Amino acid sequence: MVLKNCYIYDEVTGKEKLVDFLVDEKITAVKEELAKTISIENKITIKLSELNRTNIEEINAHSEKYILDCEGMITIPGGIDPHVHFDTPGFTHREDFYHGSMSAAAGGVTTVIDMPCTSLPPVTNGKNFDEKFAAIKNESVIDFGLYGGVCANNFEKFAQAMEELAAKKVRGFKTYFVSGMKTFPQVSLSQFEAILLKAKELNLPVLLHAEDSKIVSEMTKKYENANDDYLRYCNSRPAQAEVTAVANAIEIAKRVEGNLHVVHVASSEAAELLNQVGKEYFVTYETCPHYLFFTEEDFISKGSSLKTAPVVKSKKDQSELWKYLEGGNCSFVASDHAPAPLNEKQTGSFWKDYGGIPGAQTLIPVVFSEGYKKKKLSLKRFTEVVSTNAAKRYNLYPQKGSLRVGSDADFAIINSNISWKFETKQLLSKGETSPFDNELLTGKVVLTILRGKIVYSDSAGITGEKGYGKFLE
Ligand SMILES: [Zn+2]
Repeated sequence: MVLKNCYIYDEVTGKEKLVDFLVDEKITAVKEELAKTISIENKITIKLSELNRTNIEEINAHSEKYILDCEGMITIPGGIDPHVHFDTPGFTHREDFYHGSMSAAAGGVTTVIDMPCTSLPPVTNGKNFDEKFAAIKNESVIDFGLYGGVCANNFEKFAQAMEELAAKKVRGFKTYFVSGMKTFPQVSLSQFEAILLKAKELNLPVLLHAEDSKIVSEMTKKYENANDDYLRYCNSRPAQAEVTAVANAIEIAKRVEGNLHVVHVASSEAAELLNQVGKEYFVTYETCPHYLFFTEEDFISKGSSLKTAPVVKSKKDQSELWKYLEGGNCSFVASDHAPAPLNEKQTGSFWKDYGGIPGAQTLIPVVFSEGYKKKKLSLKRFTEVVSTNAAKRYNLYPQKGSLRVGSDADFAIINSNISWKFETKQLLSKGETSPFDNELLTGKVVLTILRGKIVYSDSAGITGEKGYGKFLE
């Protein structure tokens, strides 16, 4: 297939430009006006507006015959969402790998990395990894990696378990400073230090949920019975919980020269601490679309559809996070996709409502609309924070996150001029609520291509097959 007239940020020249791609499973050539030099005999040119289920099936079966004209669109390497909870096996009433992967594909994401803590058994040793892998290997529409995890259960065997998981090609080790999950309890600071040391030996990052357990439990005791509303919940997880946890993690990571990635940073003060860590240390962080789009005040209209941990913060936190994202301190945006059914999201008590958002489908649209279209992010930076940087951090680059010759032919193609209203009913996830419901966005993902096959189009929906997505070793 030839993708013609693709407007891209070219990482090789550092410029925005118009190019054509020749692709099979991989990108085989990239050139300006390449389409003109290729024999068009027997080749059929199709505009994106002409795509429908019938011709997509034909294109996917005989892609060498087709030229897709992407004129007027913005093209980026397929999105990478390196923080999802797809819950298979064990919590599939909330989400499963098939629905989660379709939802991500509809948002321009071609690769996800799934967390180890929200499946049963949790992915905490080689045997558990095998159980999880057997359950998901034929489920995904898009490519996927997996994290291993280390929690306080069976901690005495953590070193051997981490070795087993590294041999299974996990992308890193997730751990928590505060966790409400019985199947995945938080670790102490000394356990965290031991995990960082072991991960360093295995040449893998440790991913940390950084909120301080002492602050969260004290504040929860203080507020949980006071009054059942969102402000009490916000007060129970103050920015200080993030700041303290991040400060502790940085201190330890520096001391042992650990490889640390802090997930879902919501507080600008915590982010600022991370910004100050010298480049000689391998310490990075991500933020999420909800922290970039909402503030505490939005709970009034959004209710617990917006409930997450950490909780969304103030206008100041939000604007600082955008600055750190554009400036390069914050490495990328991840969705922390974690849906739940209505009966768990709306229990009648804000305290008991499940915390988590089905965010993989809205990740790229939200960052594009709020970031690129509102000129907070250049096309270069947008491309990096939704694709390239996560690929680099998790050792998937340049197979993923790149538009170079030899990279997988993964693309997200965005119509930059469509303004549209996102509605929860558009979710392909099992999730039944989204804080982005009824929000106006500019720029829509119209086509998602994974290894040369169209897996999603705005006009035909999901066209990728269950099981096409493969595990990234
Ligand atoms: Zn998470």
